[in-house]
Amino acid sequence: MNTSLNTIAAAVQALVPWQQYICDACGYIYNEADGDPDGGLAPGTRYADIPDDWACPLCGVTKADFTPYTPPSLEALRAGLQTSAPVATRGAAGVLIVGAGRAGWQMAEALRALDAALPITVVTACAGDVYDKPMLSIAMARSTALDAMVKESGAAAAARLNVRLLSHTHAVRICADTNQLRTTRGVLRFDRLVLAHGAQAALPPTLPAAMCWRINHLAAYQKLRAALGDTPKDIAIVGAGLIGSELANDLALGGHRITLLDVQAEPLARWSAEGAGTQLLDAWKDLAIRFVGGVQVAQLEQVAGRYRITTTCGQRFAADQVIAAAGLATPPRLAQSADLKWDNGIAVDPANLKTSNERIHAMGDCIAINGQPSRFIEPIARQARAIAADICGTAPAPFEPRAAVVRVKTTSRPLTLH
Ligand code: FE
Repeated sequence: MNTSLNTIAAAVQALVPWQQYICDACGYIYNEADGDPDGGLAPGTRYADIPDDWACPLCGVTKADFTPYTPPSLEALRAGLQTSAPVATRGAAGVLIVGAGRAGWQMAEALRALDAALPITVVTACAGDVYDKPMLSIAMARSTALDAMVKESGAAAAARLNVRLLSHTHAVRICADTNQLRTTRGVLRFDRLVLAHGAQAALPPTLPAAMCWRINHLAAYQKLRAALGDTPKDIAIVGAGLIGSELANDLALGGHRITLLDVQAEPLARWSAEGAGTQLLDAWKDLAIRFVGGVQVAQLEQVAGRYRITTTCGQRFAADQVIAAAGLATPPRLAQSADLKWDNGIAVDPANLKTSNERIHAMGDCIAINGQPSRFIEPIARQARAIAADICGTAPAPFEPRAAVVRVKTTSRPLTLH
């Protein structure tokens, strides 16, 4: 009897269309049809059946932070824009956003949600395509096609939000006294400027930029994948923090042989109290990942078409490709050109993300709050809303820094760290 009731219940369940849920923190969309196989949820797992301790694969918040999601139609977006209050005046320079990663696009969206007419210009050194950066750490094991990683082209996002996108354009310097940004495609005026250009992989002096990869955006990742080709390669990764460990995991699952080097004795040493490194090394037992801790790179050189790394203690490692993953640093040039206060990154007021210049905000990976860079996804949408409220003069939406939960996407043993 019970069995047949269960069968009927299952049959009824199967008739309910698959639902989607959005992570309010980062915008990741959970589709019941797809599940989250890396997070232990088989395709077809209903939201109601997701365990409470499951974590968002992108930003690490839990199921409680997801709400039902229906993709908005273009008509709905247009109707929403028409009813929002326009505050911009004709001929205004409007808001200039530097950077078209998650931070830059979230900023444009938050501004557009408050003001349909505000002129918004996005300047970016890359193509401006919309993608989920955390996916760069898991794309190989998932066999994600490189072109499938782009969720929306930069041009399409610009059209959807009615913003002017200047892609492949480098911001060179800020002229704070004239409210102008000098770029490689001319000088742009602004009423307000938002710096959302992110950070770069830090390069120790012993790692020449021309000899190693820095995987902090889609274009670099695609070039690395092209360089690796279809046959297994020897890859040396310098730095076993979050990015280094995730890449090691993913590239090893893709069939490559990894040498992972770090100055610390174990990977993810920042979370050693939570046993992260021990768990990872255990999970990696059967993968081609050789972790060498307690070493510092003294020299990287090219020898017979390959690379040779020599450590300060004289150990040598050969590799076809070398990836630098020894932390991130904010490029200081733009901030310096406007004399912005600097404290391990662009110093901002934690409530409204304003820099030391009244007309300039900053957000995302390039900022530091009380001297502390926060390079996580979860705060970005909240930062964008706080800045948009400040710029548009609507009810303040103060940003509140929170302790970040970090989801380590080492798919052979995903970890949630605090
Ligand atoms: Fe999320």
